[in-house]
Amino acid sequence: MCIFCKIINREIPASILYEDEDVFAMLDIAQVTDGHTLVMPKEHVDNILDCPPVLLSKIISVTQMLSKDIVRKLDAKGVNVLTNANPAAGQSVMHFHMHIIPRYDESDGLILRFKENPTADIKRMENILKK
Ligand code: AMP
Ligand code: ZN
Repeated sequence: MCIFCKIINREIPASILYEDEDVFAMLDIAQVTDGHTLVMPKEHVDNILDCPPVLLSKIISVTQMLSKDIVRKLDAKGVNVLTNANPAAGQSVMHFHMHIIPRYDESDGLILRFKENPTADIKRMENILKK
């Protein structure tokens, strides 16, 4: 059983913020910024790529509700909501979770950098990806 399943089953303690029939949320043990929270399905799915859409919509709804609550209660100036899927994308716990990372200013704990690839071929990507 994975570590998040054990937490959901109360086999390992955690700072639980919210739970309902399908969704569970707790503070991240390594707080990138104050209030850093993880929202996840109670049912084990590896990551967002494997999450059934109906369950995903419940996760997103709770993520929005908690994001608003956390921003308001901690007087944050913004929030990053993100998920990592697979180790290549930085996923270290293979139980799907959304990160809610409240933001206080640009020099707080989170550094997100979008670096443009100057040799990218957008037309080729469009041809492969368009429906
Ligand atoms: P990711 O790298 O996207 O898979 O994120 C996994 C997150 O889980 C990290 O931010 C960890 O700090 C967090 N984490 C790992 N173990 C625990 C735990 N026992 N309780 C709360 N958060 C945890
Ligand atoms: Zn699990």
